[in-house]
Amino acid sequence: MKLASRVEELPPYLFVEISRKIAAKKQAGADVISFGIGDPDIPTPKHILDEISNTTNDPQNHRYPETEGLPELRKSIAKWYKNRFDVTLNYENEILPLIGAKEGIGHFPLCYIDPGDIALIPDPAYPVYAIGTLFAGGTSHLMPLTEDNNWLPDLGQIPNEIAKKATMLWINYPNNPTGALGNIDFFKEAISFAKKNDIIVCHDAAYSEVTFDNYVAPSILEQPDALYHCVEFHSLSKTYNMTGWRIGMAVGNSHAVDALMRVKSNLDSGIPQAIQYAAIEALGSPPSVVENNNKIYLNRRDKMLHTLRKIGLEVVTPKAGLYVWAKLPNGWTSAAFTAVLLDELDIVVTPGTGYGKSGEGFIRLSLTTPDNRIDQGLKRLSEWQIPNPANS
Ligand SMILES: *Cc1c(COP(=O)(O)O)cnc(C)c1O
Repeated sequence: MKLASRVEELPPYLFVEISRKIAAKKQAGADVISFGIGDPDIPTPKHILDEISNTTNDPQNHRYPETEGLPELRKSIAKWYKNRFDVTLNYENEILPLIGAKEGIGHFPLCYIDPGDIALIPDPAYPVYAIGTLFAGGTSHLMPLTEDNNWLPDLGQIPNEIAKKATMLWINYPNNPTGALGNIDFFKEAISFAKKNDIIVCHDAAYSEVTFDNYVAPSILEQPDALYHCVEFHSLSKTYNMTGWRIGMAVGNSHAVDALMRVKSNLDSGIPQAIQYAAIEALGSPPSVVENNNKIYLNRRDKMLHTLRKIGLEVVTPKAGLYVWAKLPNGWTSAAFTAVLLDELDIVVTPGTGYGKSGEGFIRLSLTTPDNRIDQGLKRLSEWQIPNPANS
């Protein structure tokens, strides 16, 4: 039977490919250390787990949840936004809980993309922006991110006829995979570009709380007029080590939030309520919960930077996110370097090109590997010499 073109055209999901390679190596008896996937190894904090246990026994939480989420959860998201960003959101129409940010990001193009419409997508980027666009029948116009422009898209480079056909602009800061930071001037520029071209700005802020060296990540919603032009996606996954529980949120422009709610009400039936109560508990955590996590990542980051620089890779110190984005020596492609690390050291990293062709010449290493495994991996690396690229 013929598959639909949206499936035929689908590139393999990046981490599925990597998992397959790891499995093959392990089968061959190798002790593989993975710096591939960004998935916190630290357990969900106990106060959050306790809330899940306490609420699973209540039969009220065994039934279909409402698509729009519990009002208590939306109120607690509003309170978190107020405390964290000093942004006032109406819990009745500017907040929508999601089954993880990925779910909302993947479905959101269904709200704004008709066949033939264009979404402006950064390259490199989290793959779901482009895939969601493909599923909705739209076309991605890739905006190259470059080291020279601090991994921010140059909106001035977008041709007028593209800007006219575009309905969505995706941005993501702190950035995965580059570790780059957003800033207020760029957010203002994105909003005025959106206003001029009648586009919705979709800001993926999944890493806003994973920060180091006293950096505090801004929300795009802090900017004047942002609620007319923007939606921001957040996740509890990275902030509270909750990737497996699946909960996040979309907040911002009320028409956009309502459209996503209507799409979702026809596709899923909300987030299990015990998980929603866990999210309320998580969002009310004392600051020490996130600080303790970030201290662990900071320590890992610094060890990793030290080793990578020692073997001759160029790395900018990331002030946020779960990744180190390392520049390869001249002559190396991302794919060749990733392959040589796996072949010679049984170490898995992600090739920069896995996030788009502008990721060429870089690899991404995740900080979500347990400390003892990081130490073993870094030891292998520090005793290794980068071979001549011509020989591999
Ligand atoms: C991890 C990640 C997400 C997805 O988060 P979930 O809430 O677990 O779905 C979204 N965006 C980026 C950039 C991510 O790295």
